[in-house]
Parts: sequence; structure tokens; C-alpha cells
Amino acid sequence: DATIEVRGLRKQFGQTVAVDGLTFTVEPGQVTGFVGPNGAGKSTTMRAVLGLEAPDAGETLIGGRRYAELRTPLHEVGALLDASALHPGRRGRDHLLWLAHSHGIPRRRVDAVIEQVGLGSAARRRAGGYSLGMQQRLGIAAALLGDPPVLMFDEPVNGLDTDGIRWIRGFLRALAREGRAVLVSSHLMSELEDSADHLVVIGRGRLVADTSVARLLATA
Ligand code: ADP
Ligand code: ADP
Repeated sequence: DATIEVRGLRKQFGQTVAVDGLTFTVEPGQVTGFVGPNGAGKSTTMRAVLGLEAPDAGETLIGGRRYAELRTPLHEVGALLDASALHPGRRGRDHLLWLAHSHGIPRRRVDAVIEQVGLGSAARRRAGGYSLGMQQRLGIAAALLGDPPVLMFDEPVNGLDTDGIRWIRGFLRALAREGRAVLVSSHLMSELEDSADHLVVIGRGRLVADTSVARLLATA
């Protein structure tokens, strides 16, 4: 099943408990908003799901498997992380070609995802000259290369203008409509309450609320 499961996740950095026994599930066919103030543990949780942070306790599963057990990771999960590293001197399309090549993904996927995210002619320019919005589109194109059923986006609308924000929201909704599990983080509830189906709210690494938006609005 195309899900993300976070089960009793705990992660500590020195004295700082970043994630403190967190449990939730991201279901397919929905946009799940991951909300909490800066420092609440959202990035650490997403990084743990991608195998970039080793949990001190608990586990994270993608379609029932740990990240390290995925045979073709790019086909199973895609992510736009906060600090998606882009080589400034490399053209957007070359970045995607390199990524595709190193994961055995056919070249035609590169032009398909460039088209899908509307990167347009920017794909042939060097990433160093990209606007934030173009950097985000390139990062999203990279996440989509393997056509994964599970996607995570860490603060994707940060610093974007209203057109960019509207585009990302619509794009994430379309990915969910295709049946994918979509987890999107924000430090602002207001950014997600209109565009998410489900909300997971955390504070200080702990679960504060886990609710469908419909249920939330019905009780408000
Ligand atoms: P969020 O994404 O919700 O803003 P983070 O997961 O980035 O939260 O951070 C949670 C807490 O863990 C914060 O106090 C942050 O400073 C700390 N933290 C995150 N990564 C590291 C790290 N590599 N080393 C030390 N502290 C970290
Ligand atoms: P590798 O060199 O391990 O084959 P990459 O260089 O493509 O993988 O990715 C660098 C890191 O990004 C990896 O250590 C991995 O944990 C993480 N990662 C893997 N898949 C994805 C993905 N779909 N989206 C974002 N980050 C990923």
C-alpha cells in the first residue's frame, strides 16, 4: 500500500529532543498537511522517512518497508526537502538527466517531468540563475522522476509569490487525485487548511492533532 507510517519515532540531537514518540500515517489519495511551528520536528521526521536520520527509537515505513529495504527508492518515494542541493553551474535538465541515469530511469522521463512541472525553457539554463519558484519546480521534477506513489514536500511554498503558491497547491492536489500519498509541511496552519484533506499537527516533536479537515471544520 502507498502509505507513509511513522511509528513511535524518536530522534534526539545532543540535549534537543527533535521528535518525541511520534506516530501517524499518511494515506494514499490525500494531501496530508504536516503542521507545527519552526523547530517542531517536521524536517527531522521527513528526513527519517528518507533514511537520512537514524531513529533513536521507533521506525518509519514506506509502503510497509523501511527506506533501507526499498529496492528502487526513487520509484517508491520522492521528496522536496528544504535544502535540495542544486549545483549552480549545472543546467536543470542536466541535473535531471544525471539523476535519472544514476537510478536507471529512462531519459524520456526527464522531458516528461520537465513538462509536468512547467519548467519550460528554464530547464536549459543553469540552476544558479533560477528564481526560487524555478528551483522548487526543478526539485519537484526530481522528486517525480521515478513516478513514486509516495511524495513528501518540506515547506514547498516558503518564499514563493501568490502565483507560485497557487500552482503548488493545485499540483499537490492533482498528485493526490492520482492516488498518491502526499505529505506537505508548513509552519502555518492557514497555508494548509484550504488545500489539505488531512492534518497532522505537531509541537515539540509530539502529536497535537491528527484529523481530517472535514471533521475539523464540522466541529469548528
Ligand atoms: P521543523 O522542520 O519543524 O522546523 P526540525 O525537524 O528542523 O523542525 O528541528 C527540530 C529540532 O531539532 C529543532 O530544535 C532543531 O534545532 C533540532 N535539529 C534538527 N536537526 C538538527 C541537527 N542536525 N543537529 C542539531 N539539532 C538539530
Ligand atoms: P544514492 O546515492 O544513495 O543512490 P541519491 O544520491 O540519489 O541516492 O540521494 C542522496 C540521498 O537522498 C540518499 O542518501 C537518500 O537517502 C535520499 N533520497 C533517496 N531517494 C530520495 C528521494 N526520492 N527524494 C529525496 N531524497 C531521496
